[in-house]
Amino acid sequence: MYDIIIIGAGTAGLSAAIYSLRAGKSVLVLEQKPSYGGQIVNTPKVENYPGIPEISGFAFAKSLYEQAVSLGTEVLYQKVIHIEDDGERKRVYTDKEFWECKSIILATGAKNRPLGVEREEELIGKGISYCATCDGMFFRNKEVAVVGGGNTALEDANFLSNYCRKVTVIHRRDTFRGSQKNLLRVQEKENVVFLLNSEVTELLGKEVLTGIKVRDKISQKEQELEVSGLFVAVGQMPENEIFSEQIEIDSAGYIIAREDCRTSREGIFAAGDCRTKAVRQLTTAASDGAVAGLAACEWCDSE
Ligand code: NAP
Repeated sequence: MYDIIIIGAGTAGLSAAIYSLRAGKSVLVLEQKPSYGGQIVNTPKVENYPGIPEISGFAFAKSLYEQAVSLGTEVLYQKVIHIEDDGERKRVYTDKEFWECKSIILATGAKNRPLGVEREEELIGKGISYCATCDGMFFRNKEVAVVGGGNTALEDANFLSNYCRKVTVIHRRDTFRGSQKNLLRVQEKENVVFLLNSEVTELLGKEVLTGIKVRDKISQKEQELEVSGLFVAVGQMPENEIFSEQIEIDSAGYIIAREDCRTSREGIFAAGDCRTKAVRQLTTAASDGAVAGLAACEWCDSE
């Protein structure tokens, strides 16, 4: 029986673990992926975390993980499939076994949103990728495209431009969600071109991706681009369906919780990108971890 079980070993989950352990609680972190870190491990460079001018996402995650483990966090790589709460104790069922605790912190983050074009899934790993840092090297000296207008798309385009012959950024509008700094950095690259007000309508190639069709939303004209890679960076979506019997989830799938990280059920907290919030950043994930961790400790003490 643990005091606190944290579901998710990303920034929010590991930050919650640090705060909970420092308050003297026993903590188990369950992570469904085979490794810790969450989304940030795919970010080549983090430049907006207060106090750390520049660090790679992987280095950040590794340091956070080591800090949590050195304090006594136990991390198990098991997929949570169900949670139960009988009022006295809470049970977390994984694909292997079940665990009991007084309090649960949900820090499940979000997964990549698919573009929604036909044959997208079939071509994953055969030209379609959701992670430029992981797969960029496979496209050295080749032509690729990036879809999206947020910071991820801009950072991906910047990263890929260092390896690829040409990078085309395809965005459905003509203004960007990503920061001005990231945009300027990409605009300065000679091998990056922009197709704005445009959308990918078709994926070409039988066994592997050989090109894409792109439609200009204003003129309705369609053109074919020869690319061997298409990096999809159109945001994230939460994965909270399995908790929907116990706690309230909004129509977009986010766990309903305010800045105090309390969910609709006592003793269950939500931290980071998985909850309803206005700003989803590394800093706010860490901040949520602290808030949820301390709230869970308070709940355990009141039990
Ligand atoms: P995001 O900010 O939500 O941007 C997603 C982009 O994809 C938007 O430009 C959106 O277009 C576009 N899009 C969404 N669905 C689409 C579809 N079906 N077809 C075509 N385009 C579509 O997502 P993100 O870039 O992954 O960033 C997520 C969060 O992490 C943000 O808060 C971001 O600032 C943060 N982040 C920060 C850093 C950093 O600071 N270093 C790095 C990466 C990410 P519209 O604009 O038209 O909606």
